[in-house]
Amino acid sequence: MESRAEYRGTCLCGAVRVTAKPTSNSIGACHCTMCRKWGGGPLFAVECESEVDFEGAEHISTFSSSEWAERGFCQKCGTHLFYRLKQAGHFAIPVGLFDGADQWQLTEQIFIEQKPSFYSFAEKTKNLTGEEAFAQYSGK
Ligand SMILES: [Zn+2]
Ligand SMILES: [Zn+2]
Repeated sequence: MESRAEYRGTCLCGAVRVTAKPTSNSIGACHCTMCRKWGGGPLFAVECESEVDFEGAEHISTFSSSEWAERGFCQKCGTHLFYRLKQAGHFAIPVGLFDGADQWQLTEQIFIEQKPSFYSFAEKTKNLTGEEAFAQYSGK
């Protein structure tokens, strides 16, 4: 189901504002070791293709976390702002940036094989291994 509503969010300190049009209201959780090291826990992100606009972009630093992706964060407060596929310009935005949480649904978990045993989500979701996730999203 398409939901092209526009959502606004900010980092903790307010130096960076984001406006995005997510492709749907579905949230994916990534359990990979990199996401968990980055944020201290799984990454909950909303897919936005390239329809993302940042105000205060001069306060954003990016870290090239792999050959194919980079991660952006606020230089002033450290808030994580995006995971971006370099080639495709595809953004995954941490859902916590956006104000209000009622519209989202957790529908997918990826890198499920890297999830540590000390937590599990009760929501019924599609679960993909890292390999399956790459196969599904290759070309994006
Ligand atoms: Zn900030
Ligand atoms: Zn990850």
